[in-house]
Amino acid sequence: MSFEKNLTEIEYSPVLGRYLVASEAVSESDVLIEEYPFAYGPKLSSPVVCLGCFVPVNCNLDGFRCPKCGWPLCQDCIISDGAEVHQKECEVFKSANAKFYVIKDDEYRKRNECVQLDCVMPLRVLLNKEIDPERWEREVAPMEYHDQSRRQMTEVWNADLVNIAQYLRGPCKLDRFSEDLIMRVVGILEVNAFEGRTSHGHTIRCLYPKTGILAHNCVPNTARSIYPSDRFRIRLRAMKDLKAGQQLHHSYTFTLNGTAARQEHIRNGKFFTCRCARCSDPTELGTYFSSFKCISCDLGFLSSIDPFDSTADWRCNHCRFTTPAEGILKNISTMQAEVADVQAMDMSPERLQECEALLRKYRMILHPSHYIQTSLKQSLIEMYGRVHGYEMVELPDILLERKEELCRQVLGVLNVFEPGLSRARAMLLYELHVPLVLLAKSGFIAKVLSLSNLKERIQEAVSILEESVSILKYEDPSSQEGLLGRVASKALESLKLSIEAM
Ligand SMILES: [Zn+2]
Ligand SMILES: [Zn+2]
Ligand SMILES: [Zn+2]
Ligand SMILES: [Zn+2]
Repeated sequence: MSFEKNLTEIEYSPVLGRYLVASEAVSESDVLIEEYPFAYGPKLSSPVVCLGCFVPVNCNLDGFRCPKCGWPLCQDCIISDGAEVHQKECEVFKSANAKFYVIKDDEYRKRNECVQLDCVMPLRVLLNKEIDPERWEREVAPMEYHDQSRRQMTEVWNADLVNIAQYLRGPCKLDRFSEDLIMRVVGILEVNAFEGRTSHGHTIRCLYPKTGILAHNCVPNTARSIYPSDRFRIRLRAMKDLKAGQQLHHSYTFTLNGTAARQEHIRNGKFFTCRCARCSDPTELGTYFSSFKCISCDLGFLSSIDPFDSTADWRCNHCRFTTPAEGILKNISTMQAEVADVQAMDMSPERLQECEALLRKYRMILHPSHYIQTSLKQSLIEMYGRVHGYEMVELPDILLERKEELCRQVLGVLNVFEPGLSRARAMLLYELHVPLVLLAKSGFIAKVLSLSNLKERIQEAVSILEESVSILKYEDPSSQEGLLGRVASKALESLKLSIEAM
């Protein structure tokens, strides 16, 4: 189970703890680390899922239980006996007669989360510790678990203590694991585990000892790909060229969140305050991603004077007009509530029109690249070409141009926050090539474009698609990104052929 590749070294600083640097100069897309997870399993507060393949199952029906231990398994995993990952805990549950309880339907539907499954992932780590004690000592034992900060979050701590530590030591008869050790594993998982996705797109939790200690930065320089078809092997690549000794980081948070939301997420989940260049800069690296239009001069933009203090005043970069944070925050929560209502609608022409209406409405208030505007633009990019009445072939030139414009605007932001080998960029590049091709063709048919113009435009679409394919080719073929990668490379081939035929 040892990793096949490692171009990293561990260093230590009192501020950062253990962190990784590139052990030699590497180029964009080079593999830095390749490793298998120490364990993988259901995420915290998961709905009831199959403990073999993680599809949600309805345990109240007969036939969705492991015949040996009675814990949730889907019929495929029961029939094919394919739930290898479940075998070791199965013996524990069975020999201790630790039952999985049927959940009353209403109660389950309301919360859609099953605390009984919270113990599974820590249990898998503990059992793997016994199977491979050397790897545990070498790779997992040194991992950070923020004991003090976690103990202070009394409610969460106590819930974990009861649902996980006491449950494993009591009903599961695993008193060979001390309460301290179990809570340490819970902490290691909380601080270091990543979300992965199965081939069917269900989220799970994976613990990668090497990759897990990567430092966080809101502008990551590494990209990870997880291969569900190969026991969730992970590959960490350089998102851009890196020097020997350069610190490696990835992002724990969604890069298209504003600073306030990212800071909150990192503080609550990872127990520290991110002080990266993006977080420290009120303009978020010149994108004005959290900025409002100035109400005093109409030329400048308002940004927080101190992004680390949510109560700090906001100031205009042009006329120096200053306003308290309170009004800004109130505005944001009103807008976010409006956006959430629209985002909750089904994919429909109405939802598309509502998104356009909100974008227009906020144009007077927000910077065009503000994260709220950017998220609306992303939704629109997804809907133009897919929603009934707005299918790709039906879109008039003006709406094709709209889709192109939206793609270019969001790309402008992503080029700053996720430069290089980014999956999000690859998906957007794919979206962008379609209107470009259709517009070029319709321009040629309408005799607005000459043949050489047409070739030029198609050539641009080819370059865009080539970049998309060059990023997506690293994804697991069975993942959603891997599938898109195949679609994109087919589209690329046929575009190239069409240029040759011109
Ligand atoms: Zn299954
Ligand atoms: Zn079982
Ligand atoms: Zn940051
Ligand atoms: Zn101003």
